[in-house]
Amino acid sequence: MLVMSGTKVSEKKRLEIKNKVSQFAQSHGRPPGLAVVIVGDDPASHVYVKNKVKACADTGIHSLHTHLPATISEEELLKVVSKLNGQADVDGILVQMPLPKHIASDRVISAISPMKDADGLHPENLGLLATGRPRVAPCTPHGVIEILRHYDIPISGRHAVVVGRSQIVGRPMAQLFLLEDASVTIVHSKTANMKDLTRLGDIVVVAAGKPRFLGADDFRKNAVIVDVGIHRLFNGLCGDVRTEELQSHAAAVTPVPGGVGPMTITMLLENTLTLAQLSQANIRR
Ligand code: NAP
Repeated sequence: MLVMSGTKVSEKKRLEIKNKVSQFAQSHGRPPGLAVVIVGDDPASHVYVKNKVKACADTGIHSLHTHLPATISEEELLKVVSKLNGQADVDGILVQMPLPKHIASDRVISAISPMKDADGLHPENLGLLATGRPRVAPCTPHGVIEILRHYDIPISGRHAVVVGRSQIVGRPMAQLFLLEDASVTIVHSKTANMKDLTRLGDIVVVAAGKPRFLGADDFRKNAVIVDVGIHRLFNGLCGDVRTEELQSHAAAVTPVPGGVGPMTITMLLENTLTLAQLSQANIRR
């Protein structure tokens, strides 16, 4: 069984991004800029933001870090986003989720300029993806496609099954598979006889958010399995898949940790670079 290392793919991609960032800075007199906004003091969110800021520094992307109190009103947060929308040195904006309960994350995401939407979650960008003309794609599913490409896993003409239909993973994952000419099935919590469908997948992406949810019996022999789930249990990290059962069953699998996780941040860097290039070329596509 091939173990598809997102860490390795990420290292290679980040080197490519670093070179392109350097070329961009030479041509335009400044590096691409990513504004990261975090609200409140959730420790996990702060770790994610720290990792994103470090990844920016490693690739030469300028990052602006805004930390706001958990008590900030939605209106005040929208004003911060609006100011960043107008800032010339900011090409990408990321508002770290989750937000405090009194703030509607949908409204905040929609307030980010679609041309600065580094996460690719603005309705305009999701709409472009759904109509087959992506500007920037959501980072996690975009990272999954990059891992499959790196390991020469054929996608065109194959049956891809996506477990989960969230806005950030499942739905855009299905759209990206369609763009790659796969036939796509999405399953979710209301799917009847789910195993009958996951067993049809040549490629199965599991993003149900349930620790060690699926095992060998849920997949056909020689399937390619991508485990998006990530959970911190008392004995360490695990994904949505019982990977130890797949050794002589699957053709390839992504590990947790070291699989999809590192790619998510890498695609955030790539999206920021893409938005910077589009903005400098004055292209609204
Ligand atoms: P989410 O918003 O909770 O969505 C989970 C999806 O799984 C929903 O569509 C849900 O169906 C479906 N589901 C839940 N129970 C199911 C079941 N028993 N059978 C079939 N489908 C079921 O989660 P998410 O944001 O997509 O994230 C999924 C996982 O990926 C989480 O573990 C998250 O931490 C991880 N994640 C990792 C990264 C990374 O960078 N590695 C990034 C993002 C997310 P319904 O729609 O019917 O409720």
